[in-house]
Amino acid sequence: MNDIRQNYIDGRWQPALSGATREIINPANGELIALVADSQAEDTRLAIAAAKRAFYGKGEWRRTGGPRRADTLLAIADAIKARAEELALLDTRDNGKPLREARADIDDAAACFRYYAGLVTKPQGGVYEVSDGFGPMHAFAMHEPVGVCGLITPWNYPLLMAAWKLAPALAAGNCVVFKPSELTPLSAVELFRIFHEAGLPAGTANLVLGTGPSAGQELASSHDVDMITFTGSTRTGQTIASLAVGNLKKVGLELGGKSPNIIFADADLEGAVEWAMIGVFFNQGEVCSAGSRILIEESVKERFVARLAERANAMTIGDGLHDPDIGAIVSQAQLEKILGHIERARSQGARLVCGGERYTAGSCAKGFFVRPTVFDQCTREMDIVREEVFGPVVAVQTFRTEAEAIEMANDTPYGLAGGVFTSDGARALRVVKEIRAGVTWINCYNPTFNEAPWGGYKMSGYGRDLGVNGLLEYQQVKQVNISLQPGPVGWYRR
Ligand code: NAD
Repeated sequence: MNDIRQNYIDGRWQPALSGATREIINPANGELIALVADSQAEDTRLAIAAAKRAFYGKGEWRRTGGPRRADTLLAIADAIKARAEELALLDTRDNGKPLREARADIDDAAACFRYYAGLVTKPQGGVYEVSDGFGPMHAFAMHEPVGVCGLITPWNYPLLMAAWKLAPALAAGNCVVFKPSELTPLSAVELFRIFHEAGLPAGTANLVLGTGPSAGQELASSHDVDMITFTGSTRTGQTIASLAVGNLKKVGLELGGKSPNIIFADADLEGAVEWAMIGVFFNQGEVCSAGSRILIEESVKERFVARLAERANAMTIGDGLHDPDIGAIVSQAQLEKILGHIERARSQGARLVCGGERYTAGSCAKGFFVRPTVFDQCTREMDIVREEVFGPVVAVQTFRTEAEAIEMANDTPYGLAGGVFTSDGARALRVVKEIRAGVTWINCYNPTFNEAPWGGYKMSGYGRDLGVNGLLEYQQVKQVNISLQPGPVGWYRR
């Protein structure tokens, strides 16, 4: 394979300094689909240096006014749309997800660039009434880019996670070094081709391909990086936060979850089943906000679980290119991790209702597939209730009272998301107000919007992606005080 995907540093495509490459595998059939640069810290240092020169040297991008930065972001959004089908096919081949879900991701990624293009042209900062102890003053705040930002993303939404970070970071005027997951880097390479064509100044956006410990870690520890934002597992997030203290860089962490989906007996049960499936089987369950703990009121549990299992058993499974309900798991390692969780749940006494095994029918034998799995009779001490699976596996527990449901929902170190289903509006809001999580849904589960802030409480991280908050993360706020006194002020007086 001659066509090796390379790093993009200082406006040029270049191989890893060592010349090493990694194989990218299609998880639906185990076939080799690409070779990519396998970078080390030395490559990342090159990219950081380029970003530093671009930001602190010429400063072309940060000095470009918001409306012109917006024009570039809009051109990027248009180019993503123009190449949408190609990008969707890449994400499906790389990640395994159903094609229609990949298509939706690409649409959302383009919309994310469009959203931040719009936002950066709107008023920012403020003017403040201040005391006149030093004579008349005018005080205002202005928003500035943070500087050199390191961005690291996971594999579950390859292009979309890239957009969630790159769009606001660039809108704010930063220079960035981006490291996508080593498992799914292909659409990011195409995105950087789009950046190049859109005319981003050299060094503004740099791409480094490689594993976390080899290529990513340097972004956390380097004193030349002013900010790191990371989406991935809680364990890696902890490593990154501890490495970032060296120069006290700004840190944003979007981490894992074990989110509760609470269903009361008065809910529309048929609707709740459909949303619960979207909650935990969408994207093969490889979703940080997955409603992987269903808490259901005891009186309707049997009916709910029977219907959920019926629907789960009817799901089609296969190569994402054929647009099944469930595509391939991203890698053999992730497949084994999921099967390990399933095995442990059984051995710890959870009742397997459906699924619970690798799916190997026909050509799926060559890929990494898992049947959608429902466990009933789960108890709070079981690993299946406590640990993130990141696969199509759900644990069902029962509750009797609203207070018990809330207590069970919060009995987790995570705090990313949660849902509640009930026809009682006041109760829905009461429960949502008690859930210690950053994203909640009432009578639905998992819809996500570029316009609204996304992020976790507790060990699901800190900082927010998306929405106005998402732009603020990539900005510093500077206070400016102007004396309006024409002559000498004299000493301070009240
Ligand atoms: P991961 O933590 O293994 O890897 C994420 C990224 O970090 C990858 O690019 C990886 O190369 C890099 N990385 C790994 N070790 C590193 C290190 N020591 N230094 C720097 N970078 C390092 O996670 P994953 O398996 O790719 O993704 C799954 C996890 O991501 C799940 O826990 C999921 O919940 C989480 N996630 C969270 C959100 C959110 O918005 N909160 C969204 C998507 C995924």
